[in-house]
Amino acid sequence: MFTVFIAFILILFAILFIYIGSQLVFKLGLENRMREPAKSARESKAGAPKTCPVCAIKLLKGEQVSSSVFPTMDGKERIMHIKGCPYCLKNEMPRKRVCPVCLKTLSAKSYLVAKLYTRPGRDHVHVLGCVYCRKA
Ligand SMILES: [Zn+2]
Ligand SMILES: [Zn+2]
Repeated sequence: MFTVFIAFILILFAILFIYIGSQLVFKLGLENRMREPAKSARESKAGAPKTCPVCAIKLLKGEQVSSSVFPTMDGKERIMHIKGCPYCLKNEMPRKRVCPVCLKTLSAKSYLVAKLYTRPGRDHVHVLGCVYCRKA
């Protein structure tokens, strides 16, 4: 009689442990799944289309990178100074501004130097560096 009682208690505990364990695993898995896209949803590699080259945020329609373009003699490729996007320039809590070439942190007044190739249909921007690693 006594051993039957012990066995019953043990089975009860085992069920309880399995239940708590599965609940924990489920919870952790769910949290990880929810956290990951939120962290990387708008992060992108520098140079990807419609991405701010300074802070690597994906830009939505209407959000533009602030830049100045300087004309050259041949008119095919032009020098471009990229200051940044609304997120890393004018935001009250600015995003980290990093040069994609030398990985140096850029101040709000620094800019990236790039070449702008005008192609039919789509312009191509090639980032050469920043004011620290590139003298232009
Ligand atoms: Zn930016
Ligand atoms: Zn640089």
